[in-house]
Amino acid sequence: MHDETIAIHGGYEGESTRAVAVPIYQTVAHDFADAAQAAAVFDLQSPGFHYNRINNPTNDVLERRIAMLESGTAALVLASGMAAVSAAILTLAEAGTNVVSLPQLYGATYTYFVHVLPSLGIEVRLAPDDRADSVAGLIDGRTRAVFCESIGNPAGNVVDLEALAAVAHSRGVPLVVDNTVATPLLLKPAEHGADIIVHSLTKFVGGHGTALGGALVDAGRFGWSEHPDRFPAFCQPEPAFHGVVFAEEFADRAFAVRARSVTLRNTGATLAPFNAFLLLQGLETLPARLERHERNARVVAEYLASDERVAWVSFVGFPEHPSFELAQRYLKGHAPSIVTFGVEGGYEAGLTLFDSLKLFKRLVNLGDAKSLVAHPASTTHRQLTREDLALVGIPPEMIRLSVGLEHPDDLCDDLDQALAAATKRARSNR
Ligand code: PLP
Repeated sequence: MHDETIAIHGGYEGESTRAVAVPIYQTVAHDFADAAQAAAVFDLQSPGFHYNRINNPTNDVLERRIAMLESGTAALVLASGMAAVSAAILTLAEAGTNVVSLPQLYGATYTYFVHVLPSLGIEVRLAPDDRADSVAGLIDGRTRAVFCESIGNPAGNVVDLEALAAVAHSRGVPLVVDNTVATPLLLKPAEHGADIIVHSLTKFVGGHGTALGGALVDAGRFGWSEHPDRFPAFCQPEPAFHGVVFAEEFADRAFAVRARSVTLRNTGATLAPFNAFLLLQGLETLPARLERHERNARVVAEYLASDERVAWVSFVGFPEHPSFELAQRYLKGHAPSIVTFGVEGGYEAGLTLFDSLKLFKRLVNLGDAKSLVAHPASTTHRQLTREDLALVGIPPEMIRLSVGLEHPDDLCDDLDQALAAATKRARSNR
């Protein structure tokens, strides 16, 4: 099936009532037929549901659909994108090990990596830039993962995944890719060497700003058994799950099964089935929405680029964007509907523009049907020093637009009046 069809039908074959929409299984637990069936489900010997911290039939459809779209073997949904980021790391690493990451990261991921994981004894080594060569020297015998965002948020850099995967794999380390901004419609990291894919479903997948959610996808390719010393948690009996050897019993789903039965089961960041239902609704229209998002973003980016009150504009769809070539290769020539820019008059003028917008919603989300505006340096990336901001690719004056589905002329009109306010303020301050 094509993506457009999977987005609507994938993973759902109907159920006994023949409900067309995926039903919301608003239940905490499932009745076992008998003790033997209960034991078989708990032992992962037989498929089935037991307790909804671990799995749920509504969530199960979303998991199957996401796995299909990402060309993976299995997926796991969680309560938020950050739950997915942290579950990915906690499934792979423990105290005394390290993770190597590209620096262009979403703010909370950056904070989690730089401040939280080290307090748990997991070191995160940030590369100085997004080149595969820069990562190679940071990997050692204790490295458990190489991490990147396929398109950095908000830096907008498109990563050369194949080069990064080659470096990681040559050292026996899996590549973990946060594919939130691209979505599986623009890019399938598993087809370019990624081993684990992370999503915030809160963004484009949900698409309407109504439900938080996250996902992990197992690409099913990483050979855990080839690296028994690096991955004892996959290759030795698991004490947290009655001695299961995940790499042996679950081969191409070992990561997904361990993430569910050890990490999610014991940390509990479960997605509510009602949110799974909302995210499934969003997913159905993702392919159609993305086309309009991109078209509108191009109009807005071109409008900003043509206006002399604007100092700089960054849009992956412009040939002068540093990632344009990589976007041709990895995003099939498409671009995400994220536009960043700075205005003449710098930081202060940028904030006046931010305050003056009427149609764009001032908030820290992206991928909504509504157009959104954010000032990363004072919000999502507020904890970062000036040096850290430079490393993750955020000039202090950067304004980030997530261009929505309204008529683009209305969006340009809104920007026009806000630019007028910003310019007037800048002149009166001179
Ligand atoms: N990853 C990326 C690239 C994001 O942009 C975000 C949120 O903006 C997250 C992860 C975290 O997602 P959530 O807000 O659903 O926890």
